[in-house]
Amino acid sequence: MISKIIASQKITEVEELLDKYDKIVIITHVSPDGDAIGSSLGLYHYLMGLGNDVNIIVPNSFPDFLKWIPGSKNILNYERHPEFAQKLIDEAELIFCLDFNIPKRALHLGTLVETAKGKKILVDHHPDPSDFCDITISHPEISSTSELIFRLICRMGDFEIMSYETATALYTGMMTDTGGFTYNSNNIEIYYIIGELLKKGINKDQIYSNVYHNYTEDRYRMLGYTLSEKMKIYHEYNAALVWLTNEEQSKYNVKKGDTEGFANLPLNIKGIIFAVFIREDNDFIKISFRSQGSFPSNKFASQCYNGGGHLNAAGGEFYGTMEEAIAIFEKGLAMPEFSELLKKNNKILNN
Ligand code: 5GP
Ligand code: MN
Repeated sequence: MISKIIASQKITEVEELLDKYDKIVIITHVSPDGDAIGSSLGLYHYLMGLGNDVNIIVPNSFPDFLKWIPGSKNILNYERHPEFAQKLIDEAELIFCLDFNIPKRALHLGTLVETAKGKKILVDHHPDPSDFCDITISHPEISSTSELIFRLICRMGDFEIMSYETATALYTGMMTDTGGFTYNSNNIEIYYIIGELLKKGINKDQIYSNVYHNYTEDRYRMLGYTLSEKMKIYHEYNAALVWLTNEEQSKYNVKKGDTEGFANLPLNIKGIIFAVFIREDNDFIKISFRSQGSFPSNKFASQCYNGGGHLNAAGGEFYGTMEEAIAIFEKGLAMPEFSELLKKNNKILNN
């Protein structure tokens, strides 16, 4: 048995809405990752199985390494079909918001949902959710939204009818948000849940391979280039920077998701507990942070770049030049509140 972390009152409220309504839309955050897509598809298959009319809408495209998940072809990209997406949102009686805490994280789709007339349910694990839904199920202590969806389905008494498709999608989200169960994954109940998902017939080894053994030659060569030419180590701060310009990415024909995981690379080096990846996008600069121990990536992201996220994985956007973005990072490292925490964590983790 797993513990009942979602309040019973909230389970009852969700059940009541599901009894009443059957036109449902699921939305998730911009640049959807494995947990965003996994939790959405997991919930999608479950709700479809109950006979509902369900649509998933994402703010923009998602990486190819998630496109094998059953049902992923049915996901509607708002950027490509804004009118149809708008119509579905207008008509939705119930809207699930998964894996984000504030409407802004779903860009324009978030704004549409805020003003939509349907009832809204948030299921998420990012800290400090804003109050934009009728029911807020927010558990930052849980490592993935997919795990929360598993817990929600079980608490509604439906583990027995959970399908192979739901189990596969949820496992993918749990795996990707913990880097293949290498961080944020010390909760023993995660492994109980994996056992339950295996009972549904998931092929966990195949899922790992589908997601992680999926590099194109270009992407793998860019990884080599990045590690050898574009990684700067700040030994005095136990920190590292990786950065790529638009031009460099074009050279390797970068597609959506090709730089996924690059932010984590420097953490493989002994002594590095904080890493940033700064990447030029079309009209802004995307910044990703990863950390170990108690160093708060999210605090650094919010203070230096007005971003946010989790303790060990956070991000933000920057409107300016690459040089300016790097200068802000270096200035942040030197701030006593961060430099002292970096030293403290290094002592704990590396001695
Ligand atoms: P990634 O680096 O994988 O894009 O993002 C890691 C985590 O940081 C995400 O799960 C999300 O919580 C958070 N994050 C990424 N980008 C942003 C952003 O622009 N704003 C905020 N508030 N959080 C972000
Ligand atoms: Mn997540």
